Amino acid sequence: MRCPACASLDDKVVDSRTADDGSAVRRRRECLACSTRYTTFERLEEAPLVVMKSSGDEVPFDRAKIVAGIALAAKGRPVDGLAIEAIAADVEETVRIEGSQVTSERIGRAVLEALARVDGVSALRFASVYKGFDDLADFEREIGLLTKN
Ligand SMILES: [Zn+2]
Repeated sequence: MRCPACASLDDKVVDSRTADDGSAVRRRRECLACSTRYTTFERLEEAPLVVMKSSGDEVPFDRAKIVAGIALAAKGRPVDGLAIEAIAADVEETVRIEGSQVTSERIGRAVLEALARVDGVSALRFASVYKGFDDLADFEREIGLLTKN
């Protein structure tokens, strides 16, 4: 890696730990020329995951959008940032196992299921704003499932 202080390419790794549920590695490096310490974050290069929207558009999967959607639904609720990241990671893992293409509706349902296990109120809010439900009957069915617990 190139040292951010002196641009030397010689460094040694002084600490290495997995991050993000093992899908990334954080490394603490020390420049051999000037001893500056810096951190690198390496992520496994993953196969692309394509999201098919109900409009027919295809967009690359973006975990940040899921995080933002959950954060909005969980605003003011006892669901912290770490929990939201964990839910998003869980959803990504779930849909990746199912294939390289996923519908936005499937993602919405996966988020709803994962969120419902953490906080029912946030899950209901997510369901109410989530546009992927085909009709009102779907939404009512989800509410029925959530309020049964
Ligand atoms: Zn340096």
